[in-house]
Amino acid sequence: METKIWSVSASQPEPEIIKQAATLIRQGGLVAFPTETVYGLGADGLNPQAVEKIFKAKERPTDNPLILHVADFATVGRLARQVDERATKLISAFWPGPLTLVLPKQKSIPNEVTAGLDTVAIRMPRHPVALALIKASGTPLAAPSANRSGYPSPTTGQHVYTDLAGRIEAILESGPTGVGLESTVLDLSGTVPVVWRPGGVSLEELTAILGTVEMKTDLKYTHYAPRAEVVLLQGSTVKVAAKIKALVDDYSGQGKKIGLLLTAETWIELGEMVEKSAVLYQQNLGSSSHLENIARIIYRELRNCDLAGVEIILTETYQRKGLGVALMNRLLKSANGQVINV
Ligand code: AMP
Ligand code: MG
Repeated sequence: METKIWSVSASQPEPEIIKQAATLIRQGGLVAFPTETVYGLGADGLNPQAVEKIFKAKERPTDNPLILHVADFATVGRLARQVDERATKLISAFWPGPLTLVLPKQKSIPNEVTAGLDTVAIRMPRHPVALALIKASGTPLAAPSANRSGYPSPTTGQHVYTDLAGRIEAILESGPTGVGLESTVLDLSGTVPVVWRPGGVSLEELTAILGTVEMKTDLKYTHYAPRAEVVLLQGSTVKVAAKIKALVDDYSGQGKKIGLLLTAETWIELGEMVEKSAVLYQQNLGSSSHLENIARIIYRELRNCDLAGVEIILTETYQRKGLGVALMNRLLKSANGQVINV
């Protein structure tokens, strides 16, 4: 199959293009589209055969459930058996936006979407292209991130093309996404709200509305991992810089191809310490006091390391506050749960 790429305006998506994409969705096809978090791979969420194609195209384990994306509030009541006061409050505070709610599901939702669970994950994205596509399709869109399973999520149409060309009908392309990390997944099906995945809405923002929130994240699947090995360093800027110098000497001595993804502060500390020729790819991620900028480009930079042929990525940890919780969750997964304290 040849994958069509349609360029579309991010702020005012052209109706004719959206209409063609929606037709593919209604025919049971797969269309990738931008959201404010990352690019999603959409299918008609009420059509089991269409949903199955998502798992095939991504090579995603079928026991990993999908999020249903809606464009209006009324649809939530048709998908969830129960929308309690907590859900209503969160919806009015954060939708449209990067918060996914897990609620008891209605029987009509295919098991393929929920991996047989009695709950369903629902979100209303904020991106005009996503909203227009859902509306024109007239059905909730099941849409995981539009990457090969396990690999860093796509934040541009080009990333989607690299991963899924020939496997999906079309890509709606409208430039890089804003948040750069996935939505927060919050489970409201029990008495205590549980965060399964930290994301674009912070724990602090949720706690302000809900009181107690539990966080339970697991390492069940390899996730967000580039082909290169990721080495995550934690400590003061001075010590991290010294460790990087030592590791670059070591690894380059072994003939390894090294990538450095570091904050502005660490680059300043490193100065001339690192031999330029020993490093294959390097990027300044900006200041660690602007995590939103780092989140926006981190997946692109992990992918760029692979494109350059890097074998070992040296990068650093962040304060687990605000968006830092989500950022650290992704980095830890890409580093197989390992941190080097210096
Ligand atoms: P993705 O869209 O690929 O970024 O991933 C969707 C995320 O939502 C995964 O972390 C799923 O495990 C999670 N999810 C989807 N449905 C449910 C559910 N019913 N209960 C708990 N987590 C869910
Ligand atoms: Mg994903």
